[in-house]
Amino acid sequence: MLKLDYTGRMTRRPERHAWRKLKMSIGTATIAAALVVLLLTGLTSLRLTLAESETRAEANLAVQTAVLERLLDKFRLLSPLLARGPDIAQMLHLNNGPTEPGIAAIAAGMSGAEEIWLMDSAGKVIVSSQDPVPSGAIGGADKIPQAFDQARQGQLGRELIPGTPEMPSNYVFASPLRSGENFLGVLAVRVSLEDVEQAWALSKDPIMAFDGAGRVVVTNIPAWRGKTAEQLHPGVNIADLSFVGRINLLLPKTGSTKNYMQLTSNLPVLGWEVRTLVDIEDARHQSGWAMLIALLICVIAAGGIWFLITRREQFVREERRRRAAALRLERRVQSRTAELRHANALLEQEVREREQAEANLRLTQAELVQAAKLATLGRMSAALSHEYNQPLAAIRSDAEIAEMLIDRGRAEEAKGNLTRIGGMVKRMAEIAKTLKGFTRKSGTDIKPVSLRQVIDEAMLLLQPQIKQNEVSLRLDLPSTDIIVKGGRIRLEQVVINLLSNAVDAVNGRTNPEVTLTLQRENGEAVLTVSDNGSGIDEDVLPQIFDPFFTTKDVGAGLGLGLSIAYKIVHDFSGTLKAANRESGGAVFTMRLPVVDERVLAAE
Ligand code: ADP
Repeated sequence: MLKLDYTGRMTRRPERHAWRKLKMSIGTATIAAALVVLLLTGLTSLRLTLAESETRAEANLAVQTAVLERLLDKFRLLSPLLARGPDIAQMLHLNNGPTEPGIAAIAAGMSGAEEIWLMDSAGKVIVSSQDPVPSGAIGGADKIPQAFDQARQGQLGRELIPGTPEMPSNYVFASPLRSGENFLGVLAVRVSLEDVEQAWALSKDPIMAFDGAGRVVVTNIPAWRGKTAEQLHPGVNIADLSFVGRINLLLPKTGSTKNYMQLTSNLPVLGWEVRTLVDIEDARHQSGWAMLIALLICVIAAGGIWFLITRREQFVREERRRRAAALRLERRVQSRTAELRHANALLEQEVREREQAEANLRLTQAELVQAAKLATLGRMSAALSHEYNQPLAAIRSDAEIAEMLIDRGRAEEAKGNLTRIGGMVKRMAEIAKTLKGFTRKSGTDIKPVSLRQVIDEAMLLLQPQIKQNEVSLRLDLPSTDIIVKGGRIRLEQVVINLLSNAVDAVNGRTNPEVTLTLQRENGEAVLTVSDNGSGIDEDVLPQIFDPFFTTKDVGAGLGLGLSIAYKIVHDFSGTLKAANRESGGAVFTMRLPVVDERVLAAE
């Protein structure tokens, strides 16, 4: 079960314990399986090798037994054949005593028999192929009593002369010699079984033939000759090849005991048993090798399984670590997202507040602009009222004169007065109209504005003040109009402010002079207002555009005019700079981008 702690790490002690138990079980099962595989491999290999050895040994045993049988069969017929010959009986009748061994020697030499000899009825040797009789010769009935008796009874006598480790065994066939019913003697043929042993010697497995008494009579191991099976068994383990036997064969043996598989074949006529012993050490070794290879395969397989398990474990660990990291990351992202959302909400709130503040600011600015405008108007009001009073007085006197002239019947003359009255009313209406427009709250629209119109209207409003202060105003305007983008009333406000400040600056000076120039310069409209006043103090020059900066007396100035003019010009992507003229007095330069005529035409 997974438990998440506060950092997102997982505690998995129970799971680890279970995993360790599982690993131990897998390990135990693998070892058990490996052992079973080893045992089965060993047994199977042993069984196969033994089966192969058994087949080979069986074939060999059959061949070797046939060799023995064939040899004995061959000589079994020789003695009756020889005994039946008429010469032999004659030889026995006529020559009562040792005679030439010629015939016997020839027969022995031709047949390959070891010895052929003739005995009389008493068992005395009359003729022998080995005459003079050598020390190894058998001769005499006393040496073959059983065969002699059997022959006297008219049978084929057989007798084994067992060998010793030094001397091979011999087999004797004896046939009776008769003349009618008379028993004359016995003809015996001795065969050495050495030939069989020589044939058997080619076989690598020990082969031995046991007679009825359990003695080894023929064998390819001369030392075993004459011994019984019991005498041979010490040091030899004859396996019965049962399941237990096979397992025993798999186990390592100590001491000199060797393992043999024994195969038996019977010779019923002789009552013999031929046995061969197959050395099964090779089979043991082979199964040992097979087990070793199986062990190696098991070790490699176990190593592979272990590697896979470890890799899987590592992978699972990595996967968990990755998941934990992803979880941590997700949580961090979630918490950061929450923080960001919160910050965003705060930011939105701040933006709203700022927008509100900006709106308030804009409102305040607009109000300030209006206030500054009204302040300028206030200053102009005296001149303006004078401008109105003067024509009003003139209109009154002209009207009185016209009335008087009409009364006297000089209506034609009165006409001129009335025309003058009309002209003055027209001018007053024009001033009133401009004033009304100027005092209106300026909007925020930006559109193409004619600078000539702006200057004309500003002049109209300022004319009375200029006249009152007896200032000489010089206008230097281009022949063609210049169009800029902005607000007409706001630009008028700028021009009026600059001119009104200039008029204030030259107030009280001899030859007061104010110059307004307008020209086009590098795609810009450049408007300058210069005067020959006292100029601006160098110390206050950097703060001349600061709000509420004024050098004028209380009530005479608010100190807002230039700061608002600066803002207006910047709103229209222009610049406003203040400087002192070298010849004395101040100069204000306003630059505004000129509207492209093609754009204007398009609009
Ligand atoms: P106000 O006219 O109400 O004082 P402004 O912002 O228009 O406010 O002017 C700020 C100050 O700049 C004035 O008080 C004056 O000292 C100075 N100033 C403006 N124009 C000129 C000028 N042409 N010559 C000298 N000083 C000037």
